[in-house]
Amino acid sequence: MSVIAFIGLGAMGGPMAANLIRDGNTVRGFDLSKEARDAGAANGIEIHDTAAAAVRGSDVVITMLPNGAILDDLMLSKDGLLSSIKTGAVLIDSSSIDVATSKKLHAAAKSGGLHCLDAPVSGGIAGAKAGSLTFMVGGSSETLDLARPVLESMGHTIIHVGGPGSGQAAKTCNQMLFGTTLTAVSEMFVLATALGLDHETLWNIVTQSTGDCRAIRNFCPVPGVVLNSAADKEFSPGFAAPLMLKDLNLALTAADAVGQRLALTEAATNAYSTLVDEYGALDCSAVIKTMSAQLETVK
Ligand code: NAD
Repeated sequence: MSVIAFIGLGAMGGPMAANLIRDGNTVRGFDLSKEARDAGAANGIEIHDTAAAAVRGSDVVITMLPNGAILDDLMLSKDGLLSSIKTGAVLIDSSSIDVATSKKLHAAAKSGGLHCLDAPVSGGIAGAKAGSLTFMVGGSSETLDLARPVLESMGHTIIHVGGPGSGQAAKTCNQMLFGTTLTAVSEMFVLATALGLDHETLWNIVTQSTGDCRAIRNFCPVPGVVLNSAADKEFSPGFAAPLMLKDLNLALTAADAVGQRLALTEAATNAYSTLVDEYGALDCSAVIKTMSAQLETVK
């Protein structure tokens, strides 16, 4: 059993921290939002007034924050949080952030005498609540051995990808595939509609053919095909479009850093950018709205 500090008790971090308590750990938490702090306290998290107070003396520090800029500011700025964490503690960043900031965090943690992992997740809010997340882990195998019991409280699948930043790199690769695939699935339904095909019949064919993928099964963008899909609920999220846009932009940033052009990812990013500008935080499957002037059924 460990004393664990958890910074960022939002939609993902709140239930992840609750699962750590379920397994007998002491969890000290901090979040800027009062709503998140109150929900955390109701789940048994010891809420502290500052992030520094939460991490002081903890064996493990977990961050689950919106993006790399926030993490950088909190951890790595002058008077950042790293200096408040005790020597020898394990720092696990599970936020989805850019590879460059992740590597910077690893380097700073190492020079501060801390063990560090980047461990972004897949599985969404449902996986966070169920404790069934997939962790993609970057860092040394020795540090992963130290962190494994903590990760196992929050997830079912823990995959060691490689060195510092490689968990974020793998997460970025997965998300660019998900975003481009869902955009392609949406474009397919636009064509199918113009060709007069029945959506459910097409779904049955594709899910038994080479086009099968999780995007069409779990995020079918047309209503009346998959029971309780976001498309059936006016695109209430689910995995919200702004998070998909963020992840696609992380892929473009990573590609830029290594001089790689990602034409499909650029197209998907443009579609999500239009979606977020015009409709805000709908489910990611609403990307079909950006390409469906002729698809009245999803308007
Ligand atoms: P969220 O916005 O619900 O939670 C983030 C929390 O961080 C908020 O409660 C916010 O108040 C808090 N926060 C922001 N700045 C802070 C600071 N300086 N100090 C303390 N707290 C601060 O977001 P989320 O959905 O929980 O996502 C968290 C991370 O997980 C993101 O990086 C996201 O991309 C990733 N992720 C989300 C999902 C998902 O389905 N929501 C799935 C996989 C990965």
